[in-house]
Amino acid sequence: MRVVLATHNPHKVTEFQQIVSSTRPDLEIVAYDGPEPVEDGVTFAENALLKARAASAHTGLPALADDSGICVDVLGGSPGVFSAYWAGQKKDAAANLELLLDQLHDIADPHRSAHFTSTIALVIPGGAEHVVEGIWPGRLAHAASGVGGFGYDPIFVPDGQPAGEERSVGELSAEEKQSQSHRARAFAELVPLLAAL
Ligand code: IMP
Repeated sequence: MRVVLATHNPHKVTEFQQIVSSTRPDLEIVAYDGPEPVEDGVTFAENALLKARAASAHTGLPALADDSGICVDVLGGSPGVFSAYWAGQKKDAAANLELLLDQLHDIADPHRSAHFTSTIALVIPGGAEHVVEGIWPGRLAHAASGVGGFGYDPIFVPDGQPAGEERSVGELSAEEKQSQSHRARAFAELVPLLAAL
């Protein structure tokens, strides 16, 4: 079965292909290259639905779209839906990460809790719409480390690692990230819905 993935972010396409190949190898993920809607929703779900509806209408295929971001507790859940643009409209990942580190400069470890969220919309042409969510809890590091992944990965340290051996997502292998990430958790919620297609 072919499903179009409504994103122009090559990192997300790669991550979805890695997640899908290990859980639903029968699913062919096609990258979307049609027009992108303005992401003017104020929730992850609204933006994911906007993108999936546009891709499904343009291609006639079932469409998946992920809207995601990092939510920092001490900032009341920000950057949240503004994660891609936190340091301005240029979508500069290094500047976004530096600004976030700077804002939390004086904040001690017990107050640096955060999570990644991935909200995935599935839109079936002429049919149903579904929205699922995956959360990856952790905390913000004090400095960037590692070169893996993308976006805020070098400053996000997932929970559940052995004390003294904690690594940022930037230091995890692609397999390690794709086996536990917010995107993988959201996709796991989607698998039964895809089976019903
Ligand atoms: P979107 O493409 O509008 O959903 O923006 C998502 C933004 O959230 C990205 O530009 C990153 O800044 C951040 N983000 C989402 N998922 C991840 C991830 O897996 N690692 C690091 N940053 C992420």
